[in-house]
Amino acid sequence: MNIPSAMDRADNRQRWIGWALFADLIKGLSLTLKYMFSRSVTMQYPDKEKWVPYERFKGHHLLRSDENGETLCVGCELCAKICPCYCITVVAYEDEKGNRRPKVFDVDTARCLFCGLCEDACPVECIAMGSFFEYSTYSMQELVADRDQLMQMPGKIDDGGYIADAKMHTADGVRVTATKKQDESWWDNIHRNN
Ligand code: SF4
Ligand code: SF4
Repeated sequence: MNIPSAMDRADNRQRWIGWALFADLIKGLSLTLKYMFSRSVTMQYPDKEKWVPYERFKGHHLLRSDENGETLCVGCELCAKICPCYCITVVAYEDEKGNRRPKVFDVDTARCLFCGLCEDACPVECIAMGSFFEYSTYSMQELVADRDQLMQMPGKIDDGGYIADAKMHTADGVRVTATKKQDESWWDNIHRNN
């Protein structure tokens, strides 16, 4: 039985490394060719398409209410205290039933870094970060949301993470509503060929 010499073994190793690198080269070139003949993946937002974010997405803050439309907030100020950017202002008062409620509840989204600490700190799960992200404006003042605005904010989406056909509304700023779901996965859409 012939035992390969050290030189033969080194030659073999080099040959295999060469083949492995060549295979990688072919793989890379085939991917390039695939994208060359694919449709552009630029999302037609906001005119035709819209990305509907995942449930875990941290969008605009909101305040949850009970079944009577009363805010769940007890004005404890924990969210304001834990906020690293000092962007929450809470001024509490006691209502006629003796419940603590927020008289002032402002969130300055221009300062917010969307860390979600306020959401985690709230003992009554009142403040939350929803799926709404279309609130760009030219005015810093308009980026401060007050209590009533926060109570009207849309909640979290249960089954996000897809692209939908979209319709743009400009009557009251720019609002884009998602209509028909196009695809389950953004990553599948990247490879769309038609
Ligand atoms: S998400 Fe973070 S930075 Fe923004 S308001 Fe909440 S705690 Fe403050
Ligand atoms: S939103 Fe929650 S944490 Fe913030 S003041 Fe109200 S009850 Fe307290």
